Amino acid sequence: FLRSNKTSFKPLNSTKNPSPLPPVKSLSVIRPYIQTHYKPILAGWLCSVVSVFSLSRIIPNITIFSCNLSISQLRNQGLILAAFVLARLVAIYGQQALLWDAALNSEYDIRVHVFDKVLERELGFFEGGSGVPAGDIAYRITAEADDVADTVYALLNTIVPSALQLSAMAAQMLVISPGLSLISAMMIPSTAFVIAYLGERLRKISKKSSLTIANLSAYLNEILPAILFVKANNAERCESARFQRLAHSDLSECLKKKKMKALIPQIVQFIYFGALFIFCAGSLVVSGGSFDGSRMVSFITSLVFLIEPIQGVGKAYNELKQGEPAIERLFDLTRFRSKVIEKPDAVNLDCISGDVKFCNISFKYRDDMPFVLDKLNLHIKAGETVALVGPSGGGKTTLVKLLLRLYDPSSGHILIDDHDVHGVRLDSLRRHVGLVSQDITLFSGTVTENIGYMDLMKKIDMERVELAAQSANADEFIRTLPQGYETHIGPRGSSLSGGQRQRLAIARALYKNSSILILDEATSALDSRSELLVREAVERLMENHTVLVIAHRLETVMMAKRVLLLENGKLEELNRSTLMGSHYNSLASSGLVI
Ligand code: ADP
Ligand code: MG
Repeated sequence: FLRSNKTSFKPLNSTKNPSPLPPVKSLSVIRPYIQTHYKPILAGWLCSVVSVFSLSRIIPNITIFSCNLSISQLRNQGLILAAFVLARLVAIYGQQALLWDAALNSEYDIRVHVFDKVLERELGFFEGGSGVPAGDIAYRITAEADDVADTVYALLNTIVPSALQLSAMAAQMLVISPGLSLISAMMIPSTAFVIAYLGERLRKISKKSSLTIANLSAYLNEILPAILFVKANNAERCESARFQRLAHSDLSECLKKKKMKALIPQIVQFIYFGALFIFCAGSLVVSGGSFDGSRMVSFITSLVFLIEPIQGVGKAYNELKQGEPAIERLFDLTRFRSKVIEKPDAVNLDCISGDVKFCNISFKYRDDMPFVLDKLNLHIKAGETVALVGPSGGGKTTLVKLLLRLYDPSSGHILIDDHDVHGVRLDSLRRHVGLVSQDITLFSGTVTENIGYMDLMKKIDMERVELAAQSANADEFIRTLPQGYETHIGPRGSSLSGGQRQRLAIARALYKNSSILILDEATSALDSRSELLVREAVERLMENHTVLVIAHRLETVMMAKRVLLLENGKLEELNRSTLMGSHYNSLASSGLVI
């Protein structure tokens, strides 16, 4: 339950692929996303030119005040100074707003790209024990993408604005006193060395702290939906203790990171203020009286404004080192090799009759696991209704996953209307299969949005929604809800009962109106009366659909013409007289409720 850092960070494919995927190069991987927003970047940099130019005019204008000026000169000088100060403030605002615009838009693009890639990943990534937990994925796409934006901003803000200010101030210092400038330049390599060393340490700490926070997020993601179970088992204190343990390890990692982040600028400042002190004292000696007060003020002011961009570089380096692990972890989600691959010449199945053949299918989830299905053969003719029974863990749901090509069989072929599913476009294959899965999946939203999920991005056909609800015997209870079909059903449909959720899921599959309908233990949570009504609905559908009913209850199975038992990876056809006759006990042991 409490995953170690190692397991949660390990990419799924790393153990399976013969050649490992190349590592993520932080900067090169995000560069294309930044480049697309070149317009605000260039505009932001233009603002920084204005701001540095204004600054280089402000400094001599300040030092003029140390001369004896008349009142009118003072006023003029004051106005000029005010104009440059204002220009600088506006330009700095423009620079920051525009560069944030570019950074946040890059973050948006990266987020969308990563999420699309996550959706593209095959089911095994989410189901297997070696995948990244959902909460960790959520953390990467939310908080770590934010870190990436901070990094992008810091880089953009450094590349041109800091470099500009640095060179402008250095030039000014050179003009004032080449000797002192050289001494101050000598400070740069030592500072760079200190920053680089601390930056590397920060990167390591950041990586650790992003793992601890991701673990915390994964934990919350798992425990909060299970709150009923926690309460029913009086497990609040136990969960609180587990939370505290995870939160505490995050606390110590985060504290280390913040301390390091606070330390780096102080060290930079220490070095430069130390230098400043040396110059002040040294200048008296070096200048030998030729270094007048206003030049001294100019030099020191330039030096102070030189420190600012150097600190900026330090900060950007900080951000980069902190952002690198975030970029790695984020883009790690996008690097995978799918096993279920759509061929380039895959055909689009427009219309099918619904004939399904499983030919010699063998399948195991992982190489180190036993076969779940073993040379299995099954032919479901178009329009036929077949019931599948068998012990739990026998592989019934696995068979459905193979039909939907969520996994590919280790050997054998699956044919739909005599088309090998390998050569069929995945979207067209899945369009023809309506599935009511064992774990009911409803989303927060209205009843209508849940039933018409397939058309969520288009226009949901209300008439079809109601028809589907009526067929699934859900219409009656939906109408008793406060806002009928427009009632919000809470996260995962949590405001409904198990049976109601199941009926909504059935209605959703009926709305899809696909040629093949699969009910995977879809009626297990229904009371006898509701089940009878659903069964009637399914019987009506049986006329023009291919139906595969996976069930535990004998009544559900009786409507099917053929009943198959899946046990030990093999299928066995049960004849109806066996079902009606004296073999109830052996069937019950196979998981059939009589
Ligand atoms: P049924 O639906 O008949 O109850 P399943 O098809 O869900 O059974 O599971 C068949 C077997 O495969 C079980 O032993 C189960 O533990 C295993 N299994 C199911 N899903 C996975 C998975 N994603 N990774 C590894 N093993 C799995
Ligand atoms: Mg199952």
